[in-house]
Amino acid sequence: MRLILLGPPGSGKGTQAQRLVQRYGIIQLSTGEMLRAAVAAQTPVGIRAQGIMASGGLVPDDIVIGLISDRLDQPDAAKGFILDGFPRTVPQAEALDELLKKKRMRLDAVIELRVNESALLQRVEARAAETRARGEEVRTDDTPEVLTKRLASYRAMTEPLIHYYSERRKLLTVDGMMTIEHVTREINRILSAIGAVGAAAPSKAALGKKAPSRAPKKAARKSVASSRTRVAARSRKAAKKFTKRRAKA
Ligand code: AMP
Repeated sequence: MRLILLGPPGSGKGTQAQRLVQRYGIIQLSTGEMLRAAVAAQTPVGIRAQGIMASGGLVPDDIVIGLISDRLDQPDAAKGFILDGFPRTVPQAEALDELLKKKRMRLDAVIELRVNESALLQRVEARAAETRARGEEVRTDDTPEVLTKRLASYRAMTEPLIHYYSERRKLLTVDGMMTIEHVTREINRILSAIGAVGAAAPSKAALGKKAPSRAPKKAARKSVASSRTRVAARSRKAAKKFTKRRAKA
């Protein structure tokens, strides 16, 4: 399974990516994490990226494309991956298309987590407080000032990808304002609707646990269905289109 998670900072991409990793045993490729590691190690890439990241800007495309290209060549990427925080610009998306073509890999879907901007500041503040409570160092870009800049970058540079992937019939939108659990359930439901979950076996960790139920029980299904937003309805429609296209192929 090969996925992209798309959404503004604080939309829950990282959390949902980790849950997908646990469930399907595929890897999470977060350019933000890779860059933070490069900054910590003070590699040449880290030194170039440091100031840009601290101010909430976007690191040049060539740097992140290089990081992803190298990472996709490693053996653990063959089983499948979730891209979190990449691509963030149209040139990055075009470069990814090229990379995947060269590596004979096919993207299954792009999942957009749609959230209200007003909730993001609160979420990012909560993330900083939790990090502090664990005794870990808070990200230098998790401040209200930098978040405003990161959101502006998202709107200007990353939001066009919604159109990019929608045109290529890859986009599935999930209401990211639901609880973490609901968002996970909705993503899993969509993935099984488009037939993507057969592509990777569940991880050993997931097999050791009681298998999470894919479909909510009848009563729950009713209440979930009634509370589903138009966004979720759109993703159901898109999932159907996906399945039809696959059947034709
Ligand atoms: P994230 O952890 O995804 O929020 O990323 C943290 C920061 O790393 C961003 O604000 C950017 O400065 C930089 N970054 C991460 N991914 C990318 C990317 N694909 N393109 C450009 N800059 C990126």
